[in-house]
Amino acid sequence: MDTERLYFSDAYLTRFSARVIARAERGGRPAVALDQSAFYPEGGGQPADAGTLGGVAVLDVQADDGLVWHTLAAPLDADVVEGQVDWARRFDHMQQHHGQHLLSAAFEQLFGLKTVSFHLGAAAATIDLAATALAAEQAAAAEDLTNQVIWEERPVLARFVTPEELARLPLRKPPQVSGAVRVVSVPDFDHSACGGTHPRATGGVGLAHLRRWERRGEVVRVEFVCGGRALGDLRWKNAALARLAGALSVGADEVEAAVARVREAEERQRKRLELAADQLIGLEARDLLSNAEARGELRVVRRAFAGRGPEELRALAKAIAGLGGVALLGGRAEKTQLIFARAEGLALDCGALLRATLAPLGGRGGGQPALAQGGLPDGAQLEAALDAALARLANE
Ligand SMILES: [Zn+2]
Repeated sequence: MDTERLYFSDAYLTRFSARVIARAERGGRPAVALDQSAFYPEGGGQPADAGTLGGVAVLDVQADDGLVWHTLAAPLDADVVEGQVDWARRFDHMQQHHGQHLLSAAFEQLFGLKTVSFHLGAAAATIDLAATALAAEQAAAAEDLTNQVIWEERPVLARFVTPEELARLPLRKPPQVSGAVRVVSVPDFDHSACGGTHPRATGGVGLAHLRRWERRGEVVRVEFVCGGRALGDLRWKNAALARLAGALSVGADEVEAAVARVREAEERQRKRLELAADQLIGLEARDLLSNAEARGELRVVRRAFAGRGPEELRALAKAIAGLGGVALLGGRAEKTQLIFARAEGLALDCGALLRATLAPLGGRGGGQPALAQGGLPDGAQLEAALDAALARLANE
């Protein structure tokens, strides 16, 4: 015999009595099938119900060949059991699931956008629309129409129909099952083949809100919240906005303007810092060059720095070159780097000098005659490498 699905006729039934008609092990846990059950088995994008059977927690519910199987946390010996469905979880699923029916109908009626799939997760519910773009005005219009139908408190009718009646109904979503087809209808709005659980009237959805949407290949994925989830969403957004307003010492309606002011101030400070850093590098280059060693006609700054990265060293080397000198600089930060630079017009090939310096030490690098950069495998080689480069200069 098959399990009689009590939720088909009454989605609000949470307590029931049933007889165990089969026992099995599913996923390493005990499971029972009942002669009748109010538990919704996972399907149609709606997760399985939770609850208890004979006081034992129901971990999963799956339909299998006419039977509804309840996977249990512990073995259940009794042949007649009391079932209790977790109503908070079920009603949340009913709100999201029926909200999806209405949203999908609204998108189709207003813009001819078909829903190709639906996902109801623990945190978010989404529908995929057959579209490559969705304008904010379209989303708002579909949201408005959905909530209008919710607030009109229209009845939600679920019934099994004959093939003749099925042929006459303008179904938005065609049946995916053979045999008896259950149709869920909102008069003058939507008819869908569906085996899921729905509120008695559209008002049960409470509120439908589209949180965001994005293109994903050939579909637009729309994330939405209904009913209790919409309330929860509003609650945390209000709390987050209040915290932001408090941190910025402004009213909630002034947060955007206050953030814009903070970002402008940050940008001004960044530019000032950049300018100050340039000036400092220029002063440092001048100072280093005044103490430079003479090698023939060249004035050479040979210097190793700890904790200075390649970008800063490059800026310093360029500044020294810009003042007419030659820079043989090394830095030990995350990596050990050598940076050589020379003034325009000097007969020195920095790239060749760098490669000749690095080669015996196992380092790698290269560059142009005016500027070259490379790395050493071992920071302890830095002083010796700079000395070797300087000696090579003297010999040229
Ligand atoms: Zn449904």
